[in-house]
Amino acid sequence: MIKVGITGGIGSGKSTICKVFRVLGIPVFESDGVARQLMNSDPEMCAQLVELFGASVYLPNQLIDRKYLAGIVFSNPSLLAQLNGIVHPKVREVFAAWCKNQHSAYVLHESAILFESGFYKLMDKTITVIANENERIERVIKRDGATEELVNQRIRNQWSDIERIKLADFVIGNNEDELIIPQIIEIDKKLRANG
Ligand code: ATP
Repeated sequence: MIKVGITGGIGSGKSTICKVFRVLGIPVFESDGVARQLMNSDPEMCAQLVELFGASVYLPNQLIDRKYLAGIVFSNPSLLAQLNGIVHPKVREVFAAWCKNQHSAYVLHESAILFESGFYKLMDKTITVIANENERIERVIKRDGATEELVNQRIRNQWSDIERIKLADFVIGNNEDELIIPQIIEIDKKLRANG
């Protein structure tokens, strides 16, 4: 079974595109969501995070305070690396176990930081979704009610489209004037042929 990583900058439309792959019967592993779930519920990870960041990293409702955490790690590369060192190996483990239960020609591993995290090295193929920065900013402001400044900060913390394209096997253009379904069907055909 082929493992396919799918990534793209904030607001590029990764999740939207994954929904179409799901309709085609392809299982999707939502890496960033799994990481968040683990931070909320894996006792060993919770203990490690409290040791590294202090008890304030959890909200009174026991959920991870993502804003607080982002505020710390995005301005401190060493702490970001330590956080990744706690979270990424466990996500890798969960992904490997999840793959064993899938029975399709290929699976998708969706992650905003597929390349930054090195997860792409575990994949057989990679897809990157691209869209103009202005359009991405507008979409995220509309979707999350985020400020332009916040979206720009996230963009600065991620790789650029140019860097992602260099490592990707397939690129999906998701600007307003582009049709995504024909692009997805073409990639799906190629991946099934390889599987
Ligand atoms: P993030 O990295 O922030 O999770 P994402 O890459 O997964 O973002 P989506 O959540 O799929 O992006 O898309 C961002 C927003 O833009 C969503 O509200 C989605 O409905 C919308 N959107 C996605 N593609 C298009 C498009 N082609 N035209 C208009 N709106 C779109």
